[in-house]
Amino acid sequence: MPDRWTLPALDARNRAFFTSGRLVLQKCASCGVVQHPPEEMCHACHSMDFETRECRGRGTVYSFIVAHHAANPALRERVPYAVILVSLDEMPEVRIVGNLLDVSPDRVWIGMPVRTVWERIEESGETLQLPQWKALEEDEHE
Ligand code: ZN
Repeated sequence: MPDRWTLPALDARNRAFFTSGRLVLQKCASCGVVQHPPEEMCHACHSMDFETRECRGRGTVYSFIVAHHAANPALRERVPYAVILVSLDEMPEVRIVGNLLDVSPDRVWIGMPVRTVWERIEESGETLQLPQWKALEEDEHE
C-alpha cells in the first residue's frame, strides 16, 4: 500500500463524483432512483442506463465510527478520526461515507448537520476532488 491516502480508481461511472468538485450522483434513467456509490446496474430496476443528479452538499450524520488505528501509514497522524455516513438532506435514503474534518471524534453525534468540503489532490496529471465533511455552523443554516 502506498504511503499516502488511498485514492479511488477512476472509471466512467465514478469520474464525475471524484473530479467535478460537485456532488454528482448516479441516477437511473429508467426508474429515477439515485444510488451511491455508482454501480454497473440500478439496484431497483436492474437498468444499466444512467444519468446524473447533482445535490447540494448538505446532510446529517446517519452513523459513524471512530478509527483508532491507521489503516494506512499516511493516516497515522490523524488518528483517532471519525469516519461518518452522511444522509443527504435532499435525499435522506442516499448515504455517503467520508471523513469528518476539524471535529474531535468525541464531539460527533448522530443527526449532526454537516456540509461538503472538497479536498483537491493532483495525481498522475489528474485533479481529484474528494468530498469530505465539516460540521455545519449555526450561521451557515439557510
Ligand atoms: Zn432503476
